[in-house]
Amino acid sequence: MMLTVTCYDCGEMYSLRGWIEKEDLRGTQFEEKIDTITDAELSELEEKGLIHDEMDVFEKNPCCRYCGSKNVTWL
Ligand SMILES: [Zn+2]
Repeated sequence: MMLTVTCYDCGEMYSLRGWIEKEDLRGTQFEEKIDTITDAELSELEEKGLIHDEMDVFEKNPCCRYCGSKNVTWL
């Protein structure tokens, strides 16, 4: 499933993934495994709550990925 975010300040509209992909390792302690990690390892990290998909990250702190505004709505 996807979440569509609309920003009232900069006008951007974009979609967020509700599932984990390798690129979610970026900026985490597992970043160095980004090219080698398997799908099984990826879902294990997610189950342990060590990495988060785009939707999870957004829901914890809803703000625009482009301008940082909190003046956003989502469906
Ligand atoms: Zn914005």
